[in-house]
Amino acid sequence: MKEFDFIIIGGGCAGLSLAYELDLHKKLKNKKLAIIDPRTNYKRDKTWSYWKVINHNFNDCVKKSWDRFYVTEFLGKNSESDCGSYPYQSIDSGKFYQKILKKLKKNKNIIFKKKLNKSQFKGSVVFNSVPSIKKFSRDKVNYWQHFYGIEIEFKSKEPTYDLNKFDLMNFDCDQRNSVHFIYTLPFKKNRMLVETTWFSKYDKKLFDYQKQIDQWLWRWMRLKRSDYKIKYSEKGAIPLFPVQQKNKKNFINIGTAGGMTRASTGYTFLNIQEHSKYIRMNIDNINEVKRFQIKKKYYLFDKIFMKVLDTHPEIMPKLFYNLFGIFNNSIIKFLSNKSNLIDDIIVIFKMPKWIFIKSLFN
Ligand SMILES: Cc1cc2nc3c(=O)[nH]c(=O)nc-3n(C[C@H](O)[C@H](O)[C@H](O)COP(=O)(O)OP(=O)(O)OC[C@H]3O[C@@H](n4cnc5c(N)ncnc54)[C@H](O)[C@@H]3O)c2cc1C
Repeated sequence: MKEFDFIIIGGGCAGLSLAYELDLHKKLKNKKLAIIDPRTNYKRDKTWSYWKVINHNFNDCVKKSWDRFYVTEFLGKNSESDCGSYPYQSIDSGKFYQKILKKLKKNKNIIFKKKLNKSQFKGSVVFNSVPSIKKFSRDKVNYWQHFYGIEIEFKSKEPTYDLNKFDLMNFDCDQRNSVHFIYTLPFKKNRMLVETTWFSKYDKKLFDYQKQIDQWLWRWMRLKRSDYKIKYSEKGAIPLFPVQQKNKKNFINIGTAGGMTRASTGYTFLNIQEHSKYIRMNIDNINEVKRFQIKKKYYLFDKIFMKVLDTHPEIMPKLFYNLFGIFNNSIIKFLSNKSNLIDDIIVIFKMPKWIFIKSLFN
């Protein structure tokens, strides 16, 4: 006899989003679910941001929303863009975990375990969110988006900035023959997230993250290390290559392990929410329905984009600067897997065509 109807391996973003979706829609009334995760604490460890192109269950975990943003190629050359139709939002993962755990713990059919014996998996439908790819530190081949971010609180000296606009990408920083930008999210008058982000292969020489942030804060805001306190920090590496693990009968991959990370941008959060909804709607015949996937056209574009990035990293600041400014809705929809044919054509026209065509045939 089976012990659990469903098992979720990994209680992170994807595992908990799925469990919440199933619980919310009463799919666990007469079904037992085990969530396996060795982690012992659920403090804030990530800031998930996205363009809000779809609705989801976690509006009350949104830390802040913005309607305008900048992309900066270099000092003095920046484009200001509107994203009012699809606001950019940031979710506080700490609030997200607390909200979900509070609800799930009320359901007697859900249990949390650090691990299970092999025999306890018998007959269950398993949703796995643990990728079986090499860790960033062991991968010498692929590109990753790796970053370090700090949420800082200014002491006496408060710089002036517009709280309603954020810096999506500021390339006015040391590029070191790679692709590097600073991303800032102003949360309050005296508080902002500053993140140094690289698109590169594993390279220890790029890991002086704090120094990069300090240099940027000095250059852009005339702030010294002693002018701010670090209230929170996050560090991560997101694969910029397709992660496609095989689904089998009664075994479905979710989250990054399930291919929900866009290979050119690292955006994952909303894809996870859509995937969770799809699973919930089809939970009674999950082995029979088509597997949920990011559309193939995005895989193709991302593959070519990553080839261009590999051969021409130096064009990336200009490429991103040119991408935004006008027709932002089309660009945002494209980056969020929601574009139609017209949006796709607009994106293609904004790309350096010769380089892309050459990369397509290489
Ligand atoms: C710091 C950071 C910031 C990010 N910011 C964004 C963003 O702004 N926007 C966006 O769209 N995406 C972002 N991402 C990418 C992506 O959204 C996140 O990585 C997201 O958490 C992926 O969800 P997941 O469930 O696949 O993995 P995770 O959330 O990492 O969950 C995996 C879980 O598996 C558990 N686990 C590990 N090993 C085992 C094991 N052997 N058995 C059982 N459990 C195990 C872990 O403890 C963890 O809880 C970010 C990633 C990081 C790291």
